[in-house]
Amino acid sequence: MSEEIKELKKKLLSTKKNGYDCVAEGYEAAMEDYCRGYKAYLDVGKTERLCAAETIRLAQAAGYRPYQRGMEVKSGDKLYVSNRGKSVLLAHIGKKPLSEGAQIAAAHIDSPRLDLKPNPLYEEAEMAFFKTHYYGGIRKYQWVAIPLELHGVVVMKDGSVVTVNVGADTDDPKLVITDLLPHLGAEQGKKPLATAIPGETLNLLLGSRPIGDEEDSGRVKLAVMKLLNEKYGITEDDFTSAELEAVPAQNACDIGLDRSMIGAYGHDDRVCAYASLKALLDLEETPAKTAVCVLADKEEIGSDGVTGMQSAAFDTFMEDLCDAQGVALRVCYEKSFCLSSDVTAAYDPDFAEVYEKRNSAYLNYGIGLCKYTGARGKSGASDADAETVGYVRRIFDDAGVVWQIAELGKVDIGGGGTVAMYMANRNITTLDAGVPVLSMHAPFETVSKLDCYETYKGMKAVYQAET
Ligand code: MN
Ligand code: MN
Repeated sequence: MSEEIKELKKKLLSTKKNGYDCVAEGYEAAMEDYCRGYKAYLDVGKTERLCAAETIRLAQAAGYRPYQRGMEVKSGDKLYVSNRGKSVLLAHIGKKPLSEGAQIAAAHIDSPRLDLKPNPLYEEAEMAFFKTHYYGGIRKYQWVAIPLELHGVVVMKDGSVVTVNVGADTDDPKLVITDLLPHLGAEQGKKPLATAIPGETLNLLLGSRPIGDEEDSGRVKLAVMKLLNEKYGITEDDFTSAELEAVPAQNACDIGLDRSMIGAYGHDDRVCAYASLKALLDLEETPAKTAVCVLADKEEIGSDGVTGMQSAAFDTFMEDLCDAQGVALRVCYEKSFCLSSDVTAAYDPDFAEVYEKRNSAYLNYGIGLCKYTGARGKSGASDADAETVGYVRRIFDDAGVVWQIAELGKVDIGGGGTVAMYMANRNITTLDAGVPVLSMHAPFETVSKLDCYETYKGMKAVYQAET
């Protein structure tokens, strides 16, 4: 190739590179350090409640205080609000007043899982089970024959809250959903993946040892209830007011001989939640504008409900902060920017047919921007304007963040949504960006460490932006 053509190529054509070709000396140590913290965050926060609790613990350790309506709100203050223990809103009050807008990162801390039904416990063939109702978009066949643990709360009639944890402690037993043996699975094997495991067969195996005498009935169910009563003081009727969630028992671990990736349950979207949180907690100085981190619940089922991104809880928090500074909420919103930080699909060569390879997110190419999400012609997307993408592009480049821009998959194949549209509908300029994930929504998802760390750097740059 002639020198002239080489120069012209360099000048005119896109030069997106693998992140490992862009990073400097000492990078990997910082990346590993960050990822260690992230893996620990995953292991203790497998449900939205546990993740919210860990978030608050980390925030308090970094000097954040619970905000109460009426408190003074001044530059440098570090405040948070827990929305019913399932969603957390944090703010580092900036040098400029809220009339100049806020720099917001919004991620979600709920992940696909199996919730217990309100009448969950039964016995069949002298085995005891819990019935489940899946939460979010799961591929049901992935949830059978893997070890599961159970977390959540049982609220007693007197209002006291009992915390349940089965499987997470050392030596704890695990739960499992059984699957058919291949020897008898010929007919099942002919069914499409989506229907081969019906939702009503996602029943958690709890026990098999009866109590009492052989003439008694329902002895295994009773034995299980007795154990639960001994440990938690609950009776069968107390399941009525419980939220119990079965999640994979596997903890986060390095993936690959080179340890370049992390495998875990719940990367969607705790990988962006942790990046948004850690970047906020790590701000060395008071940011120019108020930096806000939203860790929402209920994204996986449409962001409805009091703890979802469509809830007025976010507006109430922002309005309270604005009130304290004598600023109208609408004035703050119209000057604000939100990075809707949620995961995107990473290109998987084993399923190349669903990706459009020129517009896919690739492992190790950094945080993935998505101008729009949605399906069937961008339906359900906020579709950020070019000005917004230009704004984020400048912020990321100025901060040396490795980033890429992508779509989820091929145009007519499918799609997905995020909280972006709910922020944009509030008149907040919003763009989607997040970590590319392999096997998204599976009980065990995979991400690249470099992408995790670049997402953290990206969030920090957004919080620190002066305009
Ligand atoms: Mn998500
Ligand atoms: Mn999701």
